[in-house]
Formats: sequence, C-alpha cells, structure tokens
Amino acid sequence: MAFSERYSRQIVFKEIGEEGQEKLRNSKVVVIGMGALGTVIANNLCRAGVGHLRLVDRDLVEISNLQRQTIYNERDVRHNLPKAVAAVQHLQKVNSEITLEPVVNDVNSGNMEKLMEGMDLVLDGTDNLETRFLINDACHKHNLPWIYGGALMSSGMTMNIIPGETPCIRCISPDLPGPGSYPTCSTAGVLGMITGIIASLESAEAMKILIGSPKVSKSLCMVDVWENNIYYLEVKKSPECPTCGQGHYDFLNKNKGS
Ligand SMILES: [Zn+2]
Repeated sequence: MAFSERYSRQIVFKEIGEEGQEKLRNSKVVVIGMGALGTVIANNLCRAGVGHLRLVDRDLVEISNLQRQTIYNERDVRHNLPKAVAAVQHLQKVNSEITLEPVVNDVNSGNMEKLMEGMDLVLDGTDNLETRFLINDACHKHNLPWIYGGALMSSGMTMNIIPGETPCIRCISPDLPGPGSYPTCSTAGVLGMITGIIASLESAEAMKILIGSPKVSKSLCMVDVWENNIYYLEVKKSPECPTCGQGHYDFLNKNKGS
C-alpha cells in the first residue's frame, strides 16, 4: 500500500491511517440531492478520497444557490448546467483519482433502489421529508446505512441511520406533515453556515462508517448557529415504527413502477 502524499494529513491522523484510507478508496457513496448539503458533502468526500461518488440531482444551478451551495459559480448559472454535471466538472479538477458519476434525475420510488445499487452508504442532501422516508424505506430493505441531514433558517440536525443498530427516521417522525404546514428554505430562509456545519458532520460520520470506526454517532445531533446551541439527543427505537418496527415500506411501494 503506497503512502499517498495527497492524503498525508488524514493518514497521519491515527484513527484513519493507511488502512482507513484504503477503505475510503474502495468505498462507494451516493449523495441524494446536490444542494447546500450535497455540495459540501461531495466536496468533503471527494477531497478525502472516497473512491466512487454518485451525485444525484435533477435541478439546474440557479443564482439563488450560490449563497450556500459552495461548489457552483456564476458560469454554471449562465450555462444552465444541471447541478450533478457542474459538480462533477468542478470535483474532477480537485481529485482525478476517484470516480465521479453524475445522475441528472428525479428521485422516486421507481428508481430509488437502482440509485443505491452497488453503494456502501447513502448521504441525504435532500430538502424534503418524503424523499427521506423513501431513502429510509429502501435502506432498511437493503440493510444499507444512510445519514440523515436537514437544515432550516439557522438550525439543523443530522443522524446516522444504520438498520438493525439505530432508530430510523420514522421512529422519530412516523408521518409526513401536511402540505404547506412546514416552513421551507424558500419561505423561511437558511444560512450557508448551518448547511455547511450539518453537511460536514454528515461527511465525518460517513468517513467513520466507511472505515468501520467504533466512534460512529448513535445520537441525533442538533445545532443552531444563531441561538448558540449544540445538542446530542438519544433517540429510541419505536416498536410501532412503520418501517423498522413493522417492516412496511409505504414510500418505496407507493406508485411503484409509475
Ligand atoms: Zn424506525
């Protein structure tokens, strides 16, 4: 195993070492959503040397994205580039030793399982609970870990969801809120600093999960950069949870094939 100058600063970190670096090189991760969270996650994992990154987003880069979606620029907006394509173009210049796979597509019950095929880990860069419930169903069904992350206004949260080990997202929130009952980033706003923090926490947990570290978090982490709070909350598995308690994949089975 050759010592790589590129990764020297994280290889000397004893929790990773050459063995951990080799595990990262052999890892495959899919990032669902290349917005504020996904761009930071993809950038972190690309630089850290995760061997294969599949980046999924259906949208084009817009001027309002540049405040927090840190890998895009004005040229991407002028050229109407899809986010997944722009992200790969930028990240290829950063690390040509890894595989970057853009997927310009919607994420739905019909393609979710295909999108995570062959992957070791799913990273949540989405902006809605329905897609997260879909990821939760598919990951529980295929026994694949995923990392939840979300941010709104000045606060955000993240949690590792490891089937059989941790609670899942529907243990915390069994049902979807009604349409319009919940503020969104476009109605209530979001700061680029909180998305950066939550995405970096997701990235660090991704590294730990991929190298098999015993330090993987089992808590729900909540941060507010305006109110000056960071909490780690213990969450319990719910026996009534539709997904991990009862094995119902309501969101994965919804409109399947349509
Ligand atoms: Zn559950």
